[in-house]
Amino acid sequence: MKILVIGSGGREHALAWKLNQSPAIDRMFCAPGNAGTAQLADNVEITATDLPALVRFVKQNKIDLTVVGPDDPLALGIVDLFASEKLRIFGPTKSAARLESSKIFAKELMRAETIPTAEADTFSDSNEALHHCEHLKFPVVIKADGLALGKGVIVAPDVATAKSTIEAMMKEGRFGDAGRRIVIEQFLHGSECSLHALVDGEHYRLLESARDHKRIFDRDQGPNTGGMGAFSPANNWNAQLQSQFEEKIMQPLLRRLRKEKIAFRGLLYPGLMVTSDGPRVLEFNCRFGDPETQALLPRLQSDLLPLLEATIDSNLDQHTIKWDERAAVTVVLASAGYPGKYETGQPISGLEDVGKLESVEVFHAGTRRANGEIITAGGRVLALTALGATIETARIRAYEAVSRIHFEGCHYRRDIALNAVAE
Ligand code: AMP
Repeated sequence: MKILVIGSGGREHALAWKLNQSPAIDRMFCAPGNAGTAQLADNVEITATDLPALVRFVKQNKIDLTVVGPDDPLALGIVDLFASEKLRIFGPTKSAARLESSKIFAKELMRAETIPTAEADTFSDSNEALHHCEHLKFPVVIKADGLALGKGVIVAPDVATAKSTIEAMMKEGRFGDAGRRIVIEQFLHGSECSLHALVDGEHYRLLESARDHKRIFDRDQGPNTGGMGAFSPANNWNAQLQSQFEEKIMQPLLRRLRKEKIAFRGLLYPGLMVTSDGPRVLEFNCRFGDPETQALLPRLQSDLLPLLEATIDSNLDQHTIKWDERAAVTVVLASAGYPGKYETGQPISGLEDVGKLESVEVFHAGTRRANGEIITAGGRVLALTALGATIETARIRAYEAVSRIHFEGCHYRRDIALNAVAE
């Protein structure tokens, strides 16, 4: 079987790494990939959003299955396009992917089924939004409706910040069209948790729980990033929360999607706030999380390929998923300046050394090969995952691996999974 993985981050390297273990796969391609995927697949120079070029490549090379990593090709309708060309692809259609690409759409679905989430109002008129702010209890959370690279969510502690955020999003177009409509919602207190589910239109299978660390600096200081680390299982999750989650969130959501005649086939991952009243939905993501995937897949004992195929063919009910009982901790190494303007082109050393460590995986993100060496080529450069009997041992092992990697300006958080140990 020939597979194409679309994307170039740590998540895609982890997907390619896991799929590479599948006996049914003979050959793998990655578009555009990175220096890590190049070790297991042929990288193809096509960007993830160049849909016509991807279709051409898949036809010419007779690819049997395409797996989409990032959200933007989904929002652009890659799955619909592939389906119209009778090409097999893993991921939701454009209309199903609106759960992620439109926060207003997601809120409306949740409201229709009384799915627990923050109370919210939606606005397409900036004056109405500004007026609304006068009467709120702060803090509130202001969200651009559309995709904004994880940056379209602002916590406003007071009315002045709320107003300047509304002006920037709705009048000055800071997030382009994504911010022309907004959601203003209640700030929820609690701790966050990510639950990934494979959804086949009818049935779903939950993956293990995970947590990520979004802020750039230790103790959750500084701006949000794409994610600086993750661990699994989540320390704030248990069987009781899971049954509430299934009963109050997953089942009503799938019911609503069916009513709306939207078949969701792909990976659905609700970001949750675990509050004193149970789990509340913060957002829906319609693809694997990054860096949660780098923590989850090393724990997955089952072959990933049949699970992806069952998701497409709507027979997930015939599958169970086996997990390694051990915990996983993933630490992201970033370039100097990230998440702002960052530098690239720095040679990376220590990769071979870390590659030899048992139950440690090095997932590449912003890397490329130049003149025989691997150099930095993005903001988030590497994600190092270690397994251990407990979160604490996995954490110690992950940081031991991190200490062996060097590149100029490398920075990372020292407290990934630390709260999990302290709590
Ligand atoms: P989202 O893209 O909607 O998940 O938001 C990104 C991040 O903003 C979340 O992971 C939370 O850390 C934070 N956030 C979003 N919505 C809320 C909320 N209603 N209350 C508190 N924090 C939130």
